[in-house]
Amino acid sequence: MAGLCIGIAGAGLLGRLLAWRLARGGHRVTVFDPAAGPAPSFDGTGAAGFTAAGMLSPLAELDNATPALAAQGWRAIGLWQAVAQALDAPALMRRRGSLMLAHRGDLGAAQRVLARLETAPAGFPTPQALAPAALAELEPALQAANAWLLPQEGQIDTVATLEQLHRQVRGVGWRWGTRVADVSPGRLTLEGGEALAFDLAIDVRGAGARPALPVRGVRGETVWLRLAGHGLTRPVRLLHPRHRVYLVPRSADLLILGASEVESEDRSPVSLKSAVELMSAAHSVMPALAEARIERLDRNLRPALPDNEPRTELGDGLLRLNGLFRHGWLLAPALVEEALARAALVPALEAAA
Ligand SMILES: Cc1cc2nc3c(=O)[nH]c(=O)nc-3n(C[C@H](O)[C@H](O)[C@H](O)COP(=O)(O)OP(=O)(O)OC[C@H]3O[C@@H](n4cnc5c(N)ncnc54)[C@H](O)[C@@H]3O)c2cc1C
Repeated sequence: MAGLCIGIAGAGLLGRLLAWRLARGGHRVTVFDPAAGPAPSFDGTGAAGFTAAGMLSPLAELDNATPALAAQGWRAIGLWQAVAQALDAPALMRRRGSLMLAHRGDLGAAQRVLARLETAPAGFPTPQALAPAALAELEPALQAANAWLLPQEGQIDTVATLEQLHRQVRGVGWRWGTRVADVSPGRLTLEGGEALAFDLAIDVRGAGARPALPVRGVRGETVWLRLAGHGLTRPVRLLHPRHRVYLVPRSADLLILGASEVESEDRSPVSLKSAVELMSAAHSVMPALAEARIERLDRNLRPALPDNEPRTELGDGLLRLNGLFRHGWLLAPALVEEALARAALVPALEAAA
């Protein structure tokens, strides 16, 4: 089915990925978003997709997700590779595995997480324990008594990917500064009352989709650290009894440190408590960070449904996708491909090997 007129509410992660896939499939697409333009504002408003660190960790996320979601995430990594190739920007993502670290006194907390990882679906690689010398060889910038390599996990440059998905799509109309008040079958109603008719209306407003969905925002905070020649080449997760902390090398001199998880829709600036906890935990495994410069403190809301699981609702003239919570980047291409296949809107994207 090609040539449909499709309206999308939300130009975040899902909105841009859907617009790109549907426009390439020959549909006429218009996207609506209250943001002033396509670039990130880094002020707590706009798409959570820009704030995300970009870990693609189906195995490590088994600590917070079901084996079925992990399997979807595993498939999605190959789909991201295919998207990056189609965008002619393979450097948007990397797949060198990730590391889990634990300090000597935190081995109990680490063993609880490792037990969760044993619920991985068949075919998943298993965590490989690394002695301190092996860790020093793999990532000389790190130090920890206990380390595990999770082979084939990945990472994606979230900001650059959202920019490319917007820049490289042809024939999509972007209506910035436009809030959608309601999404119903074949119709988007804008704030102010104007109602627009479409063959298909898509609701991907993330945390802004209430009251259509019982979605809530879960606050997350990140720190951008600038350190020339930091040397880290893969994402690192610190297994700590109180904090969930990870470091993602975005470029040769930039690291994204995240992330707090607070049951609150507060979009105000990053708290001292979160900043101190994140930075001291990161410094404890990467001493060179003492000289890093704090370039940005960012925060946003992860869109979550009551069961913390993603949800796809597909009916005549209406598609809603939401609840991607802390796994949005991990899951998005798999969820999008599944929804588009069910709606028979575009030919399937083949995952890269
Ligand atoms: C701190 C942090 C770290 C994260 N780290 C990771 C990670 O490492 N790995 C991972 O997989 N995931 C991560 N995530 C999760 C991921 O970013 C989200 O799951 C994902 O962005 C959700 O995508 P979405 O398109 O549903 O929502 P969003 O990306 O938030 O996009 C929603 C869009 O809808 C727009 N909108 C809102 N209301 C309206 C309206 N009324 N009308 C029109 N448009 C509207 C918004 O402006 C926005 O552009 C992280 C999130 C946060 C906050």
